[in-house]
Order: sequence, then C-alpha cells, then structure tokens
Amino acid sequence: MAKSLEMEHPNKALGWGARDKSGVLSPLRFSRRDNGDDDVTVKILYCGVCHSDLHSLKNDWGFTHYPIIPGHEIVGVASKVGKNVTKFKEGDCVGVGVIVNSCQSCETCEQDLENYCPRVVFTYNSHDRDGTMTYGGYSDTIVVDQRFVLRFPEGLPPDAGAPLLCAGITVYSPMKYYGMTTEPGKHLGVAGLGGLGHVAVKIGKAFGLKVTVISRSQAKESEAIDRLGADSFLVTTDPQKMKAAMGTMDFIIDTVSAVHSLFPLLGLLKVNGKLVTLGLPEKPLELPIFPLVLGRKMVGGSDIGGMKETQEMLDFCGKHGITADIELIKMDEINVAMERLSRSDVKYRFVIDVANSLTQPTASI
Ligand code: NAP
Ligand code: ZN
Ligand code: ZN
Repeated sequence: MAKSLEMEHPNKALGWGARDKSGVLSPLRFSRRDNGDDDVTVKILYCGVCHSDLHSLKNDWGFTHYPIIPGHEIVGVASKVGKNVTKFKEGDCVGVGVIVNSCQSCETCEQDLENYCPRVVFTYNSHDRDGTMTYGGYSDTIVVDQRFVLRFPEGLPPDAGAPLLCAGITVYSPMKYYGMTTEPGKHLGVAGLGGLGHVAVKIGKAFGLKVTVISRSQAKESEAIDRLGADSFLVTTDPQKMKAAMGTMDFIIDTVSAVHSLFPLLGLLKVNGKLVTLGLPEKPLELPIFPLVLGRKMVGGSDIGGMKETQEMLDFCGKHGITADIELIKMDEINVAMERLSRSDVKYRFVIDVANSLTQPTASI
C-alpha cells in the first residue's frame, strides 16, 4: 500500500493544497525527503502565484494529480546544504523556479536546456526521481538538487523578486532566443498585461525595445505607460486603432491565458515578424495560414528557460532593478486571490508571504 503523504519522507512539512478539481486550497500536511549530499533545503519566505498554478489546480490540462500543492516562484533561505554543495551555504538567499530536476545527461541538459529534457521534473505535480510526487512552494520548506537552485541577487527585494523565477525567465528566454535583444529600437508587442506581460514590458524596455501593450483592458492603459514604462497601448476591442497598428511590430510575445484568435496579432506584425506564444490555454488555438504565408511570418513557442539562463536573467534583473509589481497576500487569502486571478484582477502578481502567514492549523486536517 502506498504510504500517506505525511509518511513517505522522513521530514514533516506543511503546505496549502487542493484535493480535487474545485481547486479550493486548504492546509495539507505532507513530508519532504532528507537533505542529500547534492541538495539544498530551502526555508520558503515568499512564493508567487502564477496562472499555471490556477490551470493546474483546476485540472485545465488534464494531468493534475490530487492532492496538489502548487507554487514555482520561490524565494527563501538555504537552511541546510549537502556535503557536495559548492554553490551555496547556509543562510544564503536562494530561488527555486519551475523545475527541480532533469536527467542531467541528455543532449538538451548538456546544452543547459534542462527545461526541455524529456525527463524534466517540475516543482509540483510531477514524478520525482524516487517516484513520489513533487509538491510546490505554497509550503514551508523544499529540498532541491543544487543544480536547480539559484542565487537570488543582493539588492532585489525577495517578495517582488519571486515572480522572476517563472514570469521573468519565461519572457526573458524567448527575447534572447528569437533575436529580440540584438537590435535596440525594434518594436515588441506584449499581448496580455498580467504576471508575464508586465514583466515582459520591463525586461523589453531594459533591452532597449520599443514596447506596445496589447490588451483587452482599457483600464490598464495609464499604468502600462506611466508605471511600467510601455511606449504605447493598444486595446484589442478598438477596431480602428488595431487597423492603424497593422504591420508595425517586429515581435509579439503572447501571454494570454485563454483561448483567443491569433489573427489580429499576426496582422500587427511586419513582414518577417515573429509571434512567440507563451500562454497555455486548455484548448488548441487556430493557426491562420494566410497572414503567415503572405508575410513570411513565424509563430513559435517557449517554455521557461534552462538553469544557466535563469541565473543570467536574475542577475540582469538585479543589475537593472527589475522586479514584479505585486500584491502581497497571506496564505489564507489564496482562494480569494485565485478567484481574482481568474478574472485578470491583479496588479500584476500575487505573492504569498509564506514565512509570516503559514501557521500550523489547530484542528486536525
Ligand atoms: P495572468 O496574470 O492571468 O495574465 C494573463 C493575461 O491574459 C490577463 O491579464 C489578460 O490581460 C489576458 N487574458 C486573460 N483572459 C483573456 C481572454 N479570454 N482573452 C484575451 N486576453 C485574456 O497569467 P500569467 O501568469 O501571466 O500566465 C499567462 C499564461 O502563460 C498562462 O496560460 C500560463 O499558464 C502561461 N505560462 C506559460 C509559461 C511558459 O513557460 N510558456 C510560464 C508561465 C506561465 P489583459 O487584461 O491585458 O487583456
Ligand atoms: Zn509559472
Ligand atoms: Zn536531460
């Protein structure tokens, strides 16, 4: 018989998880493995709330194992390090993102693309090397192989910096890979101004791009420009403005979390323009062929980034003072936060103050 969550590993842990596809989170006792020779145990301070957490809680993608404890934008303090650990010492401020292991020997791993390894282990809802399920950062501690732990830059606030561990690398990596960073002044459109989108605006500006936000929400216009630093704002519901902007963008990063039409976005691109899709709606999108063929345009995708590039992104954000704009919440406010996230009502990332608000429940759970 399979061991209970509390008994499968030697060390007791506490988190908030969902037991079914209602996605409602509540306290959950579970356990973490002993710190191995290559491991770092992290006392979690803050964890960002990504829309992928919400998709997973609701089983939008059809592969959620319940109970699930989400959370992959983790910043904390190294509380124990194994004897082979050279990169970190106890007391260091560290980050953990979307992946916690991979085979470490295949072609993609050797190219520092562990995120594309066929045997990648995600931070939650994934089978770990020992066959047990992984549980994420809505919890008090996590034990991670040192290769998948990041140095969190000094000078960045750990709460507002936590979303960089997923949102940050997810937009940084395609900017580099798809050639957006080599020629300052190129025009980048960012579709969807949520967690990923608002960080894309900041990183795009730091790379010297001209950035236009493409949004359904007129109410976000002044903030996008005055607070986030975008150069212009385009509301998708205004056909005249959309028409006037056709053929003006070199690149678009599409962060929209729901099913939507790619047709208007492809129309905004110049000849040879590139549309990079990052959002993960639960159903496939239609691919309009005519604008692709007639404008030699390209549609690509991208999934977070490898560990080396994630460290590079954190250091870049440290240097440029880039963090997320956050709403800091207590652990027991998470269900309200998820409901608001489902309505795109967050400016622009919820972050859970884990260390100060995750307390042992008095009743049995
Ligand atoms: P988010 O904060 O909820 O932002 C998504 C934005 O999409 C919303 O703010 C909204 O922007 C827009 N949007 C939502 N519903 C829409 C609809 N029906 N039609 C048009 N626009 C809509 O989510 P996030 O955390 O940034 O994540 C975005 C997506 O990326 C999710 O699907 C997530 O799972 C995925 N993701 C992918 C990766 C990867 O590695 N590829 C990594 C992380 C997340 P406006 O109000 O401005 O229109
Ligand atoms: Zn994420
Ligand atoms: Zn591999």
